[in-house]
Amino acid sequence: MTARVLVVDDVATNIRLLEARLMAEYFQVLTAANGKDALQICRSGQADVVLLDVMMPEMDGFEVCRQLKSDPATMHIPVVMVTALDSQEDKLQGLEAGADDFLTKPVDDFSLVTRVKSLARLKMTTDDLRLRAQNGDELAIENFTSMEKLKSAASSGRIGIVDDVMASNSDTIRFLSQINDVELISNPHDALIKIASDQYDLILMSMYLDGADSLRMCSHLRTIENTRNIPIIGIANSGGEETLSRALEIGLNDFVHRPIDLAELAARIRTQLIRKRYNDCLRSSVQQTIEMAVKDALTGLHNRRYFETQFQILFDKAHATNKPLSVVMCDIDHFKSVNDTFGHDVGDNVIRDCAERINNSVRKNDLVCRFGGEEFVILMPETSERMAALVSERIRETISLEPVSANSADEEGVSITMSFGVSTIEFGSEDSKEKLLRRADLALYNAKRGGRNRVASLAA
Ligand code: GH3
Ligand code: MG
Ligand code: MG
Repeated sequence: MTARVLVVDDVATNIRLLEARLMAEYFQVLTAANGKDALQICRSGQADVVLLDVMMPEMDGFEVCRQLKSDPATMHIPVVMVTALDSQEDKLQGLEAGADDFLTKPVDDFSLVTRVKSLARLKMTTDDLRLRAQNGDELAIENFTSMEKLKSAASSGRIGIVDDVMASNSDTIRFLSQINDVELISNPHDALIKIASDQYDLILMSMYLDGADSLRMCSHLRTIENTRNIPIIGIANSGGEETLSRALEIGLNDFVHRPIDLAELAARIRTQLIRKRYNDCLRSSVQQTIEMAVKDALTGLHNRRYFETQFQILFDKAHATNKPLSVVMCDIDHFKSVNDTFGHDVGDNVIRDCAERINNSVRKNDLVCRFGGEEFVILMPETSERMAALVSERIRETISLEPVSANSADEEGVSITMSFGVSTIEFGSEDSKEKLLRRADLALYNAKRGGRNRVASLAA
C-alpha cells in the first residue's frame, strides 16, 4: 500500500529522519517546515496522513491540528501528533485538538510504520465514500459533517470487550463504563456470534486469547457484512510485534499495550468512534443517492430508469424459463381537469394516492413504476394475460370506488378513474420488449377510446 504522508516539523533534521524511514516503506513523502504551509498542502488535497510536530514557532502543532479538523475540506485527513516527551498532558491536548494518534520522539520504527499504514487505510475507505457521497456536490458532505457534531455524537458508544483474562470489575471496565455501554465477552468462542448479532460501535480485543485465534477473529469480523465496519482496537502484550503487525494488515484499526494507560485508551476509542460516525454518515448519504437514482420522489415508486433495467432482466428471464411476462400500462382519466379544477397540489395528492393503491393491489413480485406524469407501468412476471387483466380490473375498481382525499379540509374528495392496457409476451414469434410495451400502450389507447375507466387487452 502506498500513501502520501506529509511530515511537518520546523527542524530539518527531524524531517529528514522521518522521511528516510517512510520512504523505505515506499510511502510518498511531502514536507512542510511550518503550520501555514502544512495547511496549504492539506487543503489542496495532496496528503493522506499528516505527521505533525507539536513544538513549532508561530503556529504550534495543536493549532494546526485544530484548524485541519475544523475545516470540512480537511477534517477527514488523519493527523498524528509527534510529541517530544511522553507527556500525558500533550496527548490530552492533542486529543482535544482532534488528533487521531500520537507518536513520541524518538519515533520507534514499528510504531511509525504500523500507525501510518493503518491510518492511510482508513483514509482510503473514507476517500472512497466521500467520492461516492458527494456525487459532484461537495456541499452535501459539508452539511452533515461538523467536527463539533461528530465529537458529541461519538463521545460514547457501545463497546464489546473480548478478553479472557480481564475481570469484570477491572479498572479498565469501570473507567470505560463511566460514559460508555460496556459489555465483557470473556469466552472468546462466543465472541463472533455475539458481535455479529449485537450492535456494537467498537470492539476492544485481546491479541492473546487462550484457545482462540485473535487474528482469525479479526479476519472473520472484517469479512462478515454487519461487522465489517466496526472498529477494532487490540490489547497487546509487550513483545508481540509480529502478531500486531499481522493483525493491522488484516484490519485491526488500532492497539494499546498492557498495562493499559486509561487516558490513552479513551483517546483511541474516541478517535475510532468519530471516524466510524463520519463514515456511517457518508455511507447513508451514498445509500440515499443510490435510492434517489432509481426512485420517483413524488410517489416513492421506482422510476422509469429503473423500469428500463428491470424490464430487460424480466424479459430475458421469461424467455429463459418459458414463463409468461405481462405488462400493464395505466393512466389516470381526465387528469388535466383535476389539476384545472383543484390545483396542482391536489393533483399531486391524487397521483400519490393512486400509486399507493396500485402498489397495494399487486403481488410482491410485481414491479410498479411511475412511467411519467399520471401514467404507471406494472411488470407482472409469471402472469398470463388473463390473470393480468383480472388484477387490473381489481385495481380499476379500488380506484373508482373510493374518492381520493383532496386535502385534509376537503371531506368530499376527488372521484377519479383509470384506464388500463394489458399485454403479454409472445413466445415463438419475433417478440421484443419494445413490441410488448407498444402493445400495452395500444391497448391503453383502446381503453381510452372505448370510454375510459376500463381494462383492455389486444387479441393476441
Ligand atoms: P386522458 O384521460 O386522455 O388521459 O386525459 P388526461 O387529462 O389525463 O391526459 P393529458 O395527457 O391531457 O393530461 C395529463 C396532465 O397531467 C397534464 C399534466 O400537466 C399533468 N401532470 C403531469 N405530471 C403531473 C404531476 O406530477 N403532478 C400534477 N399535479 N400534474 C401532472
Ligand atoms: Mg519543533
Ligand atoms: Mg391521463
